[in-house]
Amino acid sequence: MSLNHVRPWRDIYRRKSRQIMVGNVPVGGDAPIAVQTMTNTLTTDVAATVAQVQAAAEAGADIVRVSVPDEASSKALKEIVRESPVPIVADIHFHYRRGIEAAEAGAACLRINPGNIGDEKRVKEVIKAARDHNCSIRIGVNAGSLEKHLLEKYGEPCPEAMVESGLEHIRILQDNDFHEFKISVKASDVFLSAAAYQGIAEATDAPIHLGITEAGGLVSGTIKSAIGLGNLLWMGIGDTIRVSLSADPVEEVKVGFEILKSLGLRHRGVNIISCPSCARQGFDVIKTVETLERRLEHIKTPMSLSIIGCVVNGPGEALMTDVGFTGGGAGSGMVYLAGKASHKMSNEQMIDHIVEQVEKKAAELEAAAEAAE
Ligand code: SF4
Repeated sequence: MSLNHVRPWRDIYRRKSRQIMVGNVPVGGDAPIAVQTMTNTLTTDVAATVAQVQAAAEAGADIVRVSVPDEASSKALKEIVRESPVPIVADIHFHYRRGIEAAEAGAACLRINPGNIGDEKRVKEVIKAARDHNCSIRIGVNAGSLEKHLLEKYGEPCPEAMVESGLEHIRILQDNDFHEFKISVKASDVFLSAAAYQGIAEATDAPIHLGITEAGGLVSGTIKSAIGLGNLLWMGIGDTIRVSLSADPVEEVKVGFEILKSLGLRHRGVNIISCPSCARQGFDVIKTVETLERRLEHIKTPMSLSIIGCVVNGPGEALMTDVGFTGGGAGSGMVYLAGKASHKMSNEQMIDHIVEQVEKKAAELEAAAEAAE
């Protein structure tokens, strides 16, 4: 459940799942919902890939996935793992050898479907490599690559076919006494994804990796993901999420966090509450928020900031935020601290002043958290 139990209409009851480890990041059980992304550089370009992993981690990614399509990538993976501040998941398709190499290279998790890598002997070899190297596995069912026999049975990709595919892969791992796995059942269609995830959530207690695959560009993909993932997370389904966008991985991480923040499931950085602005605004709200978002990116401590154009909603919103600014008349507005009107500030100096106030508050909160440890 989230921390919102003082307001029961905000409660989310998370599905009870087993907990596994992806490197040092717990996934499932009562662990925070982990945010993932995936690099889009050539894996063999170690410097570019490490830079992207680091940028994603800096933006808040808990786990990063890297494609391993060939032997040269397996070799590069070893260096990437060594340099990465977060656990690396190796994305493997069909090639059982890549799976073994990735486990040996230090991947924290293999994204591989055991039913698609050949005969039993090969499956056993990959599972052994994963076990020997403390590597978990993500079964990744995708509506676009369902097994032929399931497409023949069901006629087209449908939730039942996706769940059945997932359970077949799970059975292979369980038959080999391997239980450190999580599962995803992705589709680019929101309805298909949501139904498949609900089905798999009922059919297994494995941790669930949520994603709407090939969701689209920054705006359309964000909306699709917010609807699809948001709906499932609200139902309590999902232990780790990846937002798939045709955009920079850092954007995926930001959107993932915003979805979780909107539902009160995770908190990170400054949550800015701002009005859309209108003729009543006492300062340029849109420009101010754009600037503040950029200037406050470095703050990781969860806190809230309200930036409201006028007194219609300003004082009310400021009541519930750590720092607030409400536009007033004559080129100045009111600064609120901990919900209370504190002092006036001119519009020209307001941005620097708000940044200062937020940094100060973040330092206070960090010191209090340290003292409590
Ligand atoms: S808070 Fe004031 S400025 Fe902002 S949208 Fe509402 S009325 Fe307009």
